[in-house]
Amino acid sequence: MEKCLFCKVVNKQIPAKIIYEDDIVVAFEDINPQAPVHILLIPKKHVETVLDLTEEDKDLAGYLFLAAGKIARDIEALNDGFRIVVNCKENAGQAVFHLHLHILGGRRMQWPPG
Ligand code: 5GP
Ligand code: ZN
Repeated sequence: MEKCLFCKVVNKQIPAKIIYEDDIVVAFEDINPQAPVHILLIPKKHVETVLDLTEEDKDLAGYLFLAAGKIARDIEALNDGFRIVVNCKENAGQAVFHLHLHILGGRRMQWPPG
């Protein structure tokens, strides 16, 4: 997707502090961190929201969680736990319409979320 911000991260058309990358996903630091650790984990494939995942994306959806675990395990500040957030559409505050997992941690999280 030409105009998609996160596709531009995937294609290295805009700079990002990349934490992890393989053939399927990229993880990078959020530009406006909401916690001491705030990583965005995205599929390289352009999928707009959770609602746009199809049966075909079953492996991809699972892979995202496995990658999140792999990344989190390697970050000491996440040893005591962390939160994964996926915003879907306007009411959740989704601003970038390329599916992404927020991996947040390094501080105590509140519940219920805002
Ligand atoms: P959303 O609100 O869509 O769930 O989250 C989008 C996230 O992308 C926000 O946390 C925002 O700070 C982050 N973000 C927006 N633009 C950029 C950017 O150009 N680079 C990086 N690294 N993060 C961005
Ligand atoms: Zn995209």
